Amino acid sequence: MVLDSASTFGTGTSSRNSEVIHAGIYYPPGSLKALFCVRGRELLYKYCYEHGVPCKQTGKLIVATGPLEFSKLNELMNRGTQNGVDSLKMLEGFEAMKMEPELQCKKALLSPVSGIVDSHSLMLSLVGEAENNGTTFSYNSTVIGGHLEGNCLHLHIVESKDLENWNGDYPLQPELVLVPNLVVNSAGLSSLALAKRFHGLDSCIIPPGFFARGCYFTLSSTKVPPFEHLIYPIPEDGGLGVHVTLDLDGQLKFGPDVEWIDSIDDVSSFLNKYDYSVSASRAERFYPEIRKYYPNLKDGSLQPSYSGIRPKISGPRQSPIDFVIQGEDIHGVPGLVNLFGIESPGLTSSMAIAEHIASRFLK
Ligand SMILES: Cc1cc2nc3c(=O)[nH]c(=O)nc-3n(C[C@H](O)[C@H](O)[C@H](O)COP(=O)(O)OP(=O)(O)OC[C@H]3O[C@@H](n4cnc5c(N)ncnc54)[C@H](O)[C@@H]3O)c2cc1C
Repeated sequence: MVLDSASTFGTGTSSRNSEVIHAGIYYPPGSLKALFCVRGRELLYKYCYEHGVPCKQTGKLIVATGPLEFSKLNELMNRGTQNGVDSLKMLEGFEAMKMEPELQCKKALLSPVSGIVDSHSLMLSLVGEAENNGTTFSYNSTVIGGHLEGNCLHLHIVESKDLENWNGDYPLQPELVLVPNLVVNSAGLSSLALAKRFHGLDSCIIPPGFFARGCYFTLSSTKVPPFEHLIYPIPEDGGLGVHVTLDLDGQLKFGPDVEWIDSIDDVSSFLNKYDYSVSASRAERFYPEIRKYYPNLKDGSLQPSYSGIRPKISGPRQSPIDFVIQGEDIHGVPGLVNLFGIESPGLTSSMAIAEHIASRFLK
């Protein structure tokens, strides 16, 4: 059974991302991010081809725009190779610029296996397949917490509309209690706030949460997109840098940037109250970043598009933290799996995460 507080599937981060199928280059060797990204990419391409989900192996260029970035590019190449990413190739600037005439760079790392996927079609297909295999989807159903009884997690549920006027000022009463054999807390941005509402779960094991909004801008009035590959700068603190992604209709977008948000408390997080608006003024920061590798970007050509929020468990200027998947061995609660910090490459990794949970926790 899938319980979702929203009125349909995929209203959270899964429909607010770059839709990039990552190769597995950036992550420390041996980390869950590295392992799941590489495995998840293979599973995802296979699934898309077998189920007619639109996807395209566009290839990607990570670009160094000056000599100071060469060492970082080399590090990425070594990391990717250690992570088992095939066919990575270091290109001289002129070779990359031959592939992409609008690009300006001194060197580039080519990752041929990177690509894009239509995330909505993917989710639609997965929902259909899950239903065909007997899964019940219960929308408008919010898990408000739970308690341990006889070593079993009892899950508390209310209809989402009954939370409309609630602001944390009184304790919530469940309208339904379920006692499943296995609960996977995959509530995305809310998973930490939800875990804090499981009575009997030691709060020490719940990491601190941080939120980093990423805004996207599209390119106005271009009939032919200037790039055919995904173009990424060297990664920045908190994200992969303002990059170029394409969707399957050839529409080009730039982003996401990184804007740390410190005003989200547990109640707002639990209620999924997030501000996804994109301020047009943020474009001013985009122009100089993008012009480092796309100097022909015209003034006034960027238009605000959408945003997503990264469910982070490391804060500004802290080293990135790996995906956290906690089972009974970590928190002592039988039949509970918490997923924390499922930020990028979570979409690429999704099937590998599911495979891992099924093999490790489903009896
Ligand atoms: C800006 C940005 C760009 C990204 N780009 C990429 C990319 O290009 N490639 C990539 O691989 N990854 C990318 N990611 C990461 C990827 O999008 C996420 O890792 C992934 O979508 C997370 O999926 P999820 O199911 O954990 O969370 P979500 O998609 O947010 O789903 C959580 C679900 O839980 C439900 N829920 C919440 N609380 C409750 C509750 N109490 N009771 C019941 N239901 C509840 C919500 O309604 C929602 O449906 C990006 C992320 C961001 C923010």
